[in-house]
Amino acid sequence: MKTSRKIPICFDNSFVQLGEKFYAKLNPTPVEQPKIVKLNDDLSYKLGIDLEILDLEDWASIFSGNRILPGSEPLAMVYAGHQFGHLVPQLGDGRAILLGEVIDNSSCRNDIQLKGSGITPFSRQGDGRAALGPVLREYIVSEAMHALGIPTTRSLCALTTGEPVYRETVLPGAVLTRIASGHIRIGTFQYFALRDDINATTKLANYVIERHYPEVKETQNKYLKLLEKVMERQARLVTKWMHVGFIHGVMNTDNMALSGETIDYGPCAFMDTFKMTQVFSSIDHSGRYSYGNQPQIVQWNLARFAETILPLIDKNKEKAAEMAKEVIELYSERFQEYWFSGMRQKLGLLTSDWEDKNLIQSLLNIMQENEADFTLTFNRLCHALLDKKMDKNLRNLFKDEGAYDNWAEGWRLRLSRESRSNKERSKLMFAANPVVIPRNHRVEHAINSAVENLDFGPFERLVEVLSSPYEEIEGQSEFMLPPKHEEKVLQTFCGT
Ligand code: AMP
Ligand code: MG
Repeated sequence: MKTSRKIPICFDNSFVQLGEKFYAKLNPTPVEQPKIVKLNDDLSYKLGIDLEILDLEDWASIFSGNRILPGSEPLAMVYAGHQFGHLVPQLGDGRAILLGEVIDNSSCRNDIQLKGSGITPFSRQGDGRAALGPVLREYIVSEAMHALGIPTTRSLCALTTGEPVYRETVLPGAVLTRIASGHIRIGTFQYFALRDDINATTKLANYVIERHYPEVKETQNKYLKLLEKVMERQARLVTKWMHVGFIHGVMNTDNMALSGETIDYGPCAFMDTFKMTQVFSSIDHSGRYSYGNQPQIVQWNLARFAETILPLIDKNKEKAAEMAKEVIELYSERFQEYWFSGMRQKLGLLTSDWEDKNLIQSLLNIMQENEADFTLTFNRLCHALLDKKMDKNLRNLFKDEGAYDNWAEGWRLRLSRESRSNKERSKLMFAANPVVIPRNHRVEHAINSAVENLDFGPFERLVEVLSSPYEEIEGQSEFMLPPKHEEKVLQTFCGT
């Protein structure tokens, strides 16, 4: 065992100061035999955690919750939430425990949370544990999202517990150390609003402002401004998802973070073939959280958030509702703005033109009709921009090759109306169109190899490839390809 006088993690906890209404204090339940699968060096450096000062065994006992470090004040947060549109008044961290917070090297506050760390008062019928598959999935996808430039919680450590967890079959147990700039959810506000606890709601809102939106502190109606800022971050987040073909899968209000980060990687998936109504989640029977429904759902969730802070916005109920409604209505405009500016960038357009909407929509239409691969289409457009001969690689993504040619004619005409060089645009385009995304069949292969054969090689390799998603790196072409027919993943599962 290494001995060091240095403090392994410098905790600086603020949430715990809100008081006991907001959480239950408890330690993680120890596990048999924690063994590190993956430690994120870059992230630990950013968090000011020096991995060198302790052995892997020590880190395994820390990130499994077996050993509680000085300064850590473990707790499970309480929240409520709308799950698939139905209000559940009492939820909370049922299999997660916040160890505490650290200030990173950009002076930002971060939560360190263990997921799969045992039963809490909010576990309901659950066992408080996580299986290795979902832990690896969250590690892969959250880190890929970060590399894609999308706000997200991150993964610091994945480990196995040496204990079984019982789902439909017996699976290896695991714990993920999740890092977030904050874990407060729309559902956290709902919990207190449902209990008409205005004091707690105010305290929580002030805390969120201090932590995530300090710029609104000095404004005239800071709670209304908070709503607007949250709305903007959520609008930006969902457009970023959609620009890379990401489907969250379970956008319940308890899975929407006030920080504007993507949180809760359950049945999420990236689509291969473009389809507006695409759903992967096995429990999303009505397609509520389909690819194309996501923007609307964000607005619905924002309205639920707004309801919780109405008494803070104005004492007069009607007036408060009117003010909040105006902000919620602004969302559609904001979403359209972010959506089209991102799509323009994906097409290499530097200026905006009223006809762009048509150009973008008609591309999506032919992609859907012809079952074109989302990521490959945009990636190959980057090449076709520089060399028309590359059109051949696009044509063969479309069932009807002529559909692409017709569209490309309009695209080139539009490009020719801008007086910029293709070289200049190409930079912009390559930066907006990833080469690799965590394709479902790759994620599944990595997970299956680990769970069934204890072979973590494919997991390691996938994480590595996904860490630079905008670069075409030699030897990685297999990761760019869509699944063969027999490799296609049709459904994803929460794994809880
Ligand atoms: P999720 O679908 O992951 O957003 O979880 C919804 C709710 O179920 C949250 O309150 C979780 O804490 C809880 N939950 C999920 N899985 C488990 C589990 N294995 N044990 C206890 N609670 C769980
Ligand atoms: Mg959740």
